[in-house]
Amino acid sequence: MAYAIAALFGLVIGSFLNVCIYRLPRDLSIVWPASRCTTCGRELRWFENIPVLSYAALRGRCRTCDQRISPMYPAIELLTAAVFAGTFAACGLSWMLPIRLLFGCAMIVLLVIDLQHQILPNEITLPGIALGLVFSLVGPPGWRDALLGALAGGGLLWLVAWGYERWRGVEGLGFGDVKMLAMIGAFLGWKSMLLTLVAASLIGSLTAATLLLARRADWQSKLPLGTFLAIAAIPSGLVGDAVVSWYLSFYS
Ligand SMILES: [Zn+2]
Repeated sequence: MAYAIAALFGLVIGSFLNVCIYRLPRDLSIVWPASRCTTCGRELRWFENIPVLSYAALRGRCRTCDQRISPMYPAIELLTAAVFAGTFAACGLSWMLPIRLLFGCAMIVLLVIDLQHQILPNEITLPGIALGLVFSLVGPPGWRDALLGALAGGGLLWLVAWGYERWRGVEGLGFGDVKMLAMIGAFLGWKSMLLTLVAASLIGSLTAATLLLARRADWQSKLPLGTFLAIAAIPSGLVGDAVVSWYLSFYS
């Protein structure tokens, strides 16, 4: 029952994340005006704004202009519901719950915006670094781990970006990725930040290999590192500590 409530809450928040994902990269306000059809601009009625259900009832088309509504909308609502249920399972009713939920929401927004626009908005990453550090003053991972996580995460990717640009003469890694990993380090601490980076690189390499084999990409194609970081950071935020101690247990 509690998981169902968490998931339901996630569906509603997911609907708001859709608004952020659409409007942030376009520099539009996320609170005004009300949601509209992105094709014909008609304002949506309340019954067209119900997460997942409206999409299913309208069979994925606008009632006025009959244009297809992207299946990304219900997919993001369902993903948010899953992340909320998973976060509740990991944190229970603790004060870590709202912190991890906020982190999960930020990661979902960055995941999709990087995938669609190849940018990671400062509006999320910069306050994210600050918030992660502030939260660490009162809870895990503690301010030392968080500060080290932010500095090491940002520093590591900044070094890679700088080195790549010197070596190839082109930008291979955006500064957005640098700020995003600093944010992940600030929220999760340096150990789970490293775990996130390793897992994201693995997922990214596997995706690249699959796309190359399927000839959907070539060696010049750019992959959205932010998307892979977000996919790895959400579970790392929930079970990262357990995975890191399990891994270290082999060395002690
Ligand atoms: Zn329309």
